[in-house]
This record gives sequence, structure tokens and C-alpha cells, in this order.
Amino acid sequence: MKIRVLGCSGAEFPGHRPPSILLNSKILFDAGSLTNMLSLKDQLRIRYIFITHTHLDHIMGIPFLADNLIFGKKRHTVKIISIPPVIRAIRRNILDGSIWPDFTVLPDTHEGILDLTELKPGHSIETDGGYTVVPYEVNHSVPATGYLVEDKEKRRFFYAGDTGPSDILWEKMRDRQIHCLIIEVSFPNGMEQIALETGHLTPRLLNKELLKMGPQPEKIFITHVKPQFFKTIRKEVERMHISSLKFLEGGKTITV
Ligand SMILES: [Zn+2]
Ligand SMILES: [Zn+2]
Repeated sequence: MKIRVLGCSGAEFPGHRPPSILLNSKILFDAGSLTNMLSLKDQLRIRYIFITHTHLDHIMGIPFLADNLIFGKKRHTVKIISIPPVIRAIRRNILDGSIWPDFTVLPDTHEGILDLTELKPGHSIETDGGYTVVPYEVNHSVPATGYLVEDKEKRRFFYAGDTGPSDILWEKMRDRQIHCLIIEVSFPNGMEQIALETGHLTPRLLNKELLKMGPQPEKIFITHVKPQFFKTIRKEVERMHISSLKFLEGGKTITV
């Protein structure tokens, strides 16, 4: 599986874009960076957008994508998929016609540019290309989910989105070999209290999460670092001496 990193920052600054990763040009996980990173041709390839939660830095590309696609020559519907509370909040707050057009009923009521699909935790969906995607709830300040993705060769990655520490998550995943884990570290160790209160991780908290996992992943990528704290976080991560642990980098492609 090839994953293109469109954005992997926990805040927006020049050169630092909010989270979005693109699997095989058609399947997007989070939409923090989208139309500002992809050409129109690449935007037209997207068929699915899996959303981890409703925080703005994970959804803000959706309205702009819809606005671009409606003028495409070969128009198609993009499925926005997430757990029920996330879909409800997107419908209620972004696609209610008050701050942007409701692209679920445009260009016409039967075939909108966007289709909102609820997917319950633990239930799977099959996408084009033979990928199976299953949401597993994580611990954040709003309802949030990570996604386990498996290809036809049974290679798996887990994209955790924003999450604080969780026991239930790793219990549910325990018997699964995850080949690649993409997980957040937003704050340095000195800000553990804020991390816990807001549902995020520090390097020390990540270390504890890894100990709860069954078989360790071949690759672990850190995402959602707040750029203001990057230097401190990098030092703290280096001190963990885990050779499979790397920082995700915007614009790069990773292989699972
Ligand atoms: Zn969040
Ligand atoms: Zn976030």
C-alpha cells in the first residue's frame, strides 16, 4: 500500500498542514489538507474520505473539494464515511446550507457531489481496490475513531487520528498484526496534563500505548505534532530508542 502524506501537523503554519493521508489516490483519511495540496486531476480521483472526528483541522478540505468537483466534466459522488456521531455533526454544522452549500443535494437531490455514510465501530466497508476498512473508537475530546485498513494481501495499517491513552482500543486490536501504525504525538512530555485533558499523546504516553499493543508494528509514524513543540518532541522521541519509530513528513509517500 502506498500512502501519500498531504498533511501531518497538529496546527497550521506555512509549511505545516493539518492531517490528511491519501491511499492509492482514491481513498483519503481525514481532510485537513486537500485542495491546497492536490491538483484538480488528483482531486477528481478521490472516491472515499474517511473522517476520524469533526475537529476543523480534520474536515476543512471537504467543502472546498465539493465546490471544485461540481465543475468537473465527469462528475461523481464522493463518499464521506465515519462513525454516526461524526456524520451527524458534519451534516448539522457544515452541510446545513448556512456556511456553505449543501453538496449532498447538489447538483441534484438524487445525486449529490457528497454522500454521507455512517459506519458503526467494528463494522467493515469494502472500497475500490479491495481494501477493507474498519473503524475502532479512540479516546479524544469529541467522538473519534481510528481506521484499520487491510489490503488483499492482508497487509494492515492503523491510522489512529487524534487520540489520548486508551485501554479498550488496544484490547480490541490485540490479536491483529498491524504492519504500520500512524499515531499522534501532539505535545511534549512537560505538557502531559494538557494532553490528557484534550485527548492527545506525548512521547511518554505514546510509549505506554505501544506497550499495550500485541505484536509490535514494523513501522510506526508519528503525526499531528504541534510545530511549536517539534524540537522538544523530537528529542524526547529520540530518547525512546525505538528504531521503527519515525515522524511522518508532509509531501512524502510511505509504503506499508
Ligand atoms: Zn482533534
Ligand atoms: Zn487534530
